[in-house]
Amino acid sequence: MKIFDLHAHPVLKYFYLQDRIPENRGFDAIPLFNIPLRSFYPLSIRCSGQRLVKGRVGALASAVVVPEPRVRLFQRKTLSAWFQRLIISRLAPTATRGLSSETPYQLTLGMMNSVASRIASDRDPGSGKPRLALIKSMNELDLAVDRGLVAIYHAIEGGNCLYDAFPDPETLLFTLHEGDTWDVFRERLSTLRNLGLMQVTTSHYFDTHFVPQCENTQLPFKSSDDRAPMRYQGSCCLFHQAPFARLVVEACCQEGIAVDLVHASPEARWRAMETCKDHDRPVIVSHGCVRGPDDAFQPHPYALSDQELLKLHEMDGLLGLILSTCRHSYEHRGKKSDRGLPLLLETIKHVKKITGSTRILAIGSDFDGLSDPMDDCSDPSEFQDGLVEALESEPSLKYDDIEGICWNNAHRVMARAWRRAGASSFHSTTADHPSPGRASDIA
Ligand SMILES: [Zn+2]
Ligand SMILES: [Zn+2]
Repeated sequence: MKIFDLHAHPVLKYFYLQDRIPENRGFDAIPLFNIPLRSFYPLSIRCSGQRLVKGRVGALASAVVVPEPRVRLFQRKTLSAWFQRLIISRLAPTATRGLSSETPYQLTLGMMNSVASRIASDRDPGSGKPRLALIKSMNELDLAVDRGLVAIYHAIEGGNCLYDAFPDPETLLFTLHEGDTWDVFRERLSTLRNLGLMQVTTSHYFDTHFVPQCENTQLPFKSSDDRAPMRYQGSCCLFHQAPFARLVVEACCQEGIAVDLVHASPEARWRAMETCKDHDRPVIVSHGCVRGPDDAFQPHPYALSDQELLKLHEMDGLLGLILSTCRHSYEHRGKKSDRGLPLLLETIKHVKKITGSTRILAIGSDFDGLSDPMDDCSDPSEFQDGLVEALESEPSLKYDDIEGICWNNAHRVMARAWRRAGASSFHSTTADHPSPGRASDIA
């Protein structure tokens, strides 16, 4: 069964933390270092070329992240967290050199270049043949898959990827500088689209002038005592106060870039869905989860409500299921046993009950990102033995459902999302939108 993975970070650790590994090594990790521990371990690469091939990954979004300052990576005070911190601090000179001297936009361009170079130089160590292809359209994706290659496309996670500066460390607000006009951001979006950017996650951990986020500057689901769910204090701005919110959603629709609403606040998600609907474009939530009956699965605004599931179904959108146990079940968070696939099946059954089908479901692993992968499907090589086998074991899922979740749903929806609109046929609804303001407008 082919897998369409809507969200992963195959090159993130190479780019920031392991940039001494030359790009001509492609996607092959150095085996000595490749020990995928729980949580974020900088020396492991889950999405190695070998594992992508073994898991029969057909398509994969490679997401650029520009880490915001003060994102607290290691709040747990366990030995392994201290060990990870030690490793990071050893590698920090490599990582921070880039972070301090380059702007978020330059880092974004740099990482997209690095993805392209690694893909171009990647070879199967046995046969010497290429295994991966960088694709810029659905046509290219289909051609790559026909040739037996893994089709990889660029995504960015967070509107802050387009900025010229990091947020103010005191206020945690991104500030607009002279020249940071919508025209500049719009031009950058076009430039990135021409380089193959096919998916934009509008928000990440901080509010920007793009679309408000829901997680309030902490990693999701963590608090200072590491037990209680993070207190949700609401976004510091609302969709209509983020000057570029509607503009960026519309620009993505026009450019044929999929709008990804994961990490956006519920209010922003709803408004962005309405905007996409106005333009007959789908939306996706690339690596998400659901709140479940009476919020029993995940009582956090990151998770989708039943109303949102129905809305996604109505507009033929997608929910990529994240492969992280704590997102699918708050109750199972931090437990010793981290088998997540049974919980994933509960999520799938809930979506089927609410929407009457599995058409909105897909996979968004978030491998090699900051989330903690589930033990029973912890890297792409386990897609077939872990994920597909679990889906096949669920009596309520028919073959069509499983094929849909693994491949067909994402293929169908992305074909619509990647359609570029001709300038003449695209009618903007921004006429009534207030002109973009300064950063203080959204405080
Ligand atoms: Zn994310
Ligand atoms: Zn991610």
